[in-house]
Amino acid sequence: MRQAVRRQDPKERIANFNEVSLGLSDQQAMLEARRCLQCKNPQCVKGCPVNIDIPGFIKLISEGKRFKALLKIKEKNNLPAVCGRVCPQEDQCEKFCILNKKDTPINIGALERYASDSEIIEDEQGQGHQEKLNGQAKIAVVGSGPAGLTCSADLAKMGYEVVLFESLHIAGGVLSYGIPEFRLPKKIVSQEVDYIRSLGVKINTGCLIGKTLEIKELFDQGFRAVFIASGAGLPQFLGIEGENLDRIYSANEFLTRLNLMKAYLFPAYDTPLNIGEKCVVIGGGNVAFDCARWAIRLKKKVTLIYRRTEKEMPARKEEIENAKEEGLIFSLLTQPVKFLGDERGYVKAMECIKMELGEPDSSGRRRPRPIKGSNFTLDLDTAIIAIGQRPNPLLSKATKDLKTNDNGTVKVDKELMTSIPGVFAGGDIITGSDTVIAAMGAGKKAALSIHHFLRDTS
Ligand code: FAD
Ligand code: SF4
Repeated sequence: MRQAVRRQDPKERIANFNEVSLGLSDQQAMLEARRCLQCKNPQCVKGCPVNIDIPGFIKLISEGKRFKALLKIKEKNNLPAVCGRVCPQEDQCEKFCILNKKDTPINIGALERYASDSEIIEDEQGQGHQEKLNGQAKIAVVGSGPAGLTCSADLAKMGYEVVLFESLHIAGGVLSYGIPEFRLPKKIVSQEVDYIRSLGVKINTGCLIGKTLEIKELFDQGFRAVFIASGAGLPQFLGIEGENLDRIYSANEFLTRLNLMKAYLFPAYDTPLNIGEKCVVIGGGNVAFDCARWAIRLKKKVTLIYRRTEKEMPARKEEIENAKEEGLIFSLLTQPVKFLGDERGYVKAMECIKMELGEPDSSGRRRPRPIKGSNFTLDLDTAIIAIGQRPNPLLSKATKDLKTNDNGTVKVDKELMTSIPGVFAGGDIITGSDTVIAAMGAGKKAALSIHHFLRDTS
């Protein structure tokens, strides 16, 4: 039988900010690892964007070699403790596990986390320094999210001198400012970032490329190639009446105040977060659920508004389950029409309309359409809009010759090279909001492309 991860009790966890999932015990990990059939042609590996040797690391766990299992994972994945926690495994490796045919798939994510959380991780970091193979070439990486960190690590392992430029004061991208502590503890993120540093990567925080330095200046400073991994951090809004009222937040602002600026520890941290008692979160992805579950932990009554049904929600299944257990109220097939404010300019209600599902759209999900005359009003005092992000245009506007698509994503060829020779891009900046592991896959691919580019042009 598939071993389920241990979790904090819902009543307890909504009263603290600690990680919800407690992982597998030693005994559970052993039982789960022994379920793996060690397939000769493992389909699970094909479902992993960075092609971890899944049966290989699971076999090591089944032999009690937890640290060796971690090293096996690290052959392909530079951020295993993150991936073991936030990857949507049900849509990736686990979806392809042969055991789906008869039984339940191997809990690959939980085993990855188990290997990564081995205490010996500290020792391993000490061994992370690599021999410099071809230390001449300097490469600049812009953005320290999963794409930038992965590309930097792979290039450093190949012997390049890598400098990573990050506009915020902390590295990690969405892993630091977006995903909450109770899902991905920041200690884990900084451990993973330290590991990347230990490979020789220099991280310059507080440096906004496009303002502090332009891409052309990086080449003037002797960098031979640039990887742009600046993500998709620009919030999208509904574009409806009243959206500028007070206490209406973009998910980005709400999450950044909490995760990065630690508003939940006020007054120890001097970050205000002006919210009321009745919160509404609009959206159905991971971002919306993270906002909603934060608000629950701040002791608010929280309703999630989504225009389709639960089946179409892009959020990870595990997080939907967690949110239900924590008391989140769902208002499905509902679309906001306008916000209403009080005399002080604060939001006090939202007019909504009920929706029904029609034919599938280009995403394959059934398109929601309004039901005429079904408008209703919902009282609230705080709204958080989590309906998607787009790439921030700052860098592309500041970089002449960098071609973009209509939605602001950067154009790349199949080797991930942009319209500027020697400048590569990957992660959310080329796809729009996607997943951690997809961004890491792009980082890996770009590292190889940069290596080939430098070999062919020197
Ligand atoms: P990012 O992680 O966005 O990192 C980009 C970095 O570049 C940022 O640190 C930014 O500050 C920096 N930057 C931007 N512009 C510049 C510049 N001009 N100069 C210097 N630095 C710059 N995915 C999952 O797989 N599972 C999940 O559970 C999940 N949950 C999520 C929850 C939230 C709240 C959010 C927002 C996203 C979530 N995602 C999840 C999606 C996932 O986090 C992203 O797809 C992934 O982080 C993209 O990685 P990236 O490296 O392309 O960009
Ligand atoms: Fe093990 Fe499933 Fe992968 Fe086969 S497909 S090797 S059973 S995890």
